[in-house]
Amino acid sequence: MLPMNTCTKCGACCVTYRVTFGREELDRAGAGLVPAELVEAIDERRVCMRGTNLRHPRCIALRGTVGSEVACAIYDRRPSPCRAYAPRAVDGNGDMCCADARRLHGLPPLKGSYDAGLLA
Ligand code: SF4
Ligand code: SF4
Repeated sequence: MLPMNTCTKCGACCVTYRVTFGREELDRAGAGLVPAELVEAIDERRVCMRGTNLRHPRCIALRGTVGSEVACAIYDRRPSPCRAYAPRAVDGNGDMCCADARRLHGLPPLKGSYDAGLLA
């Protein structure tokens, strides 16, 4: 089990954005780790996590309740956008995308954001 941190009490980004990445990250038809059964096609080169290409997105791999307690069911196999997203958020330092996602789901932007002026 992963330790509790800012993100495991949030999950807002997993229910806000389309999570798009290249087919090469798939465990089938690629050399990567992301389970192919959890994605849908965008075009010949790209896929997205199922559930994130909807008007009200929710990634199929997200477990739990946003803003309370969440987990990623494929944390060790998650795609590159998830690995790159707001890398300091787990320590309570967000960025603009993180803040937007949190606001959209009724959560305040993280304090200590390293985006200058974001929290002004
Ligand atoms: S990166 Fe930001 S929006 Fe995403 S789970 Fe962490 S705190 Fe929430
Ligand atoms: S793969 Fe995991 S971290 Fe990425 S959007 Fe889905 S639930 Fe969130």
